[in-house]
Amino acid sequence: MFHFPGVDFLEIDSLLSDDEKLVRRTVRDFVDREVMPHIEEWNRAGGFPRHLVAPMAEMGFLGANLQGYGCACMSNVQNGLIMQELERGDSSLRSFVSVQGSLVMYPIHAYGSDEQKKRWLPALQQGKAIGCFGLTEPDFGSNPGGMRTRAVKDGGGFILSGEKAWITSGSIADVALIWAQTDDGIRGFLVEKGAPGFTAHDIKGKWSLRTSITSILSLQEVRVTAASMLPGVRGLKGPLSCLTQARYGIGWGAAGAAMACYNEALEYAKTRTQFDGKPVASHQLVQERLVDMITEITKAQLLALHVGRLKDRGRADFAHVSMLKRNNVKIALDVARAARDILGANGVSDEYPIFRHMCNLESVFTYEGTHNIHTLIIGERITGIQAYR
Ligand SMILES: Cc1cc2nc3c(=O)[nH]c(=O)nc-3n(C[C@H](O)[C@H](O)[C@H](O)COP(=O)(O)OP(=O)(O)OC[C@H]3O[C@@H](n4cnc5c(N)ncnc54)[C@H](O)[C@@H]3O)c2cc1C
Repeated sequence: MFHFPGVDFLEIDSLLSDDEKLVRRTVRDFVDREVMPHIEEWNRAGGFPRHLVAPMAEMGFLGANLQGYGCACMSNVQNGLIMQELERGDSSLRSFVSVQGSLVMYPIHAYGSDEQKKRWLPALQQGKAIGCFGLTEPDFGSNPGGMRTRAVKDGGGFILSGEKAWITSGSIADVALIWAQTDDGIRGFLVEKGAPGFTAHDIKGKWSLRTSITSILSLQEVRVTAASMLPGVRGLKGPLSCLTQARYGIGWGAAGAAMACYNEALEYAKTRTQFDGKPVASHQLVQERLVDMITEITKAQLLALHVGRLKDRGRADFAHVSMLKRNNVKIALDVARAARDILGANGVSDEYPIFRHMCNLESVFTYEGTHNIHTLIIGERITGIQAYR
């Protein structure tokens, strides 16, 4: 069985506690054992390996940094290490766990009623229920505030109408958190699978995140009770605060994907020979690429760890997290492309994991705030001037 050796050029391990290393070891072993032998086959076939939900739940990966309701109460650094190791296997696994924990469990935990928390959090933590997060619409991606989905008051409840696009886990979800305009601003509603007028169908033909379900949700006059609305948040800050949680995990996850690509390229370059039987790693141009890769990965690891420590002290805000997501996904994509090149023609084959990671990272670059949008978030923070419009 393949054992991922990890990537640690600068003794960053010395900054981790034994508990943190134990969490990383547990997830790394799980991915080596349960994911790596099958991932290329799953990626070819498309579709989500649902049988992994139960073991991931049992090991505490779902909502790992939340308190109560059976959650593992891990630190943000421990949670980040989970994301790093899962995405080292495949971005789809990290995406599933991010959506479940950060985009569905977190808002219910932070803004839900006691009844909503009791009903959903234990089931979501145990993987007995799957959740999805419906914010993006066909015409509103980077600008979700313009959403057209509407919830209109009707008697004691609401009627929801609209369409959500590109929704991870949409068609397998038991509960969808749907963000909609109301007379009272944007509000979140928990809509259950099977509600009359609520349908989901999958987006086919993706070259990226093939091991993840991505769906279009259609809401045609879906009637929900007033108790299905999250009482604790109003306005765009509701969904944006969830995205900050998920983007934090993506920052770690992207570093994991980059580590996988670097490790593969390094091993390949040391054994692949050209020109008089010399390994391609013996050439200066190849070494330069490997050095650039390990340098950027090391910087990404330090950034993730520092933002994680800040978050554990309650000091990380959304702009810090934007820097983490923006930098780490960009360098991961650059590392994947460089690694692909080092493998030559083999780099385009799914005998090796690199092209899969590279394709996945194209989605990761776009979702949860595109690279451009994170540039503008950080730009606004440092200049005080908004440049979105
Ligand atoms: C695989 C996958 C899974 C996803 N899962 C979910 C999910 O679970 N839930 C959910 O709600 N959404 C999800 N999304 C949607 C994702 O969040 C959006 O795709 C993303 O927000 C970008 O929106 P868009 O695709 O409409 O691009 P657009 O907003 O149309 O942007 C197109 C381009 O224009 C640029 N651009 C836009 N506005 C500006 C500006 N002001 N300044 C500079 N450049 C700008 C963008 O950076 C981008 O390069 C998912 C997407 C993918 C690909």
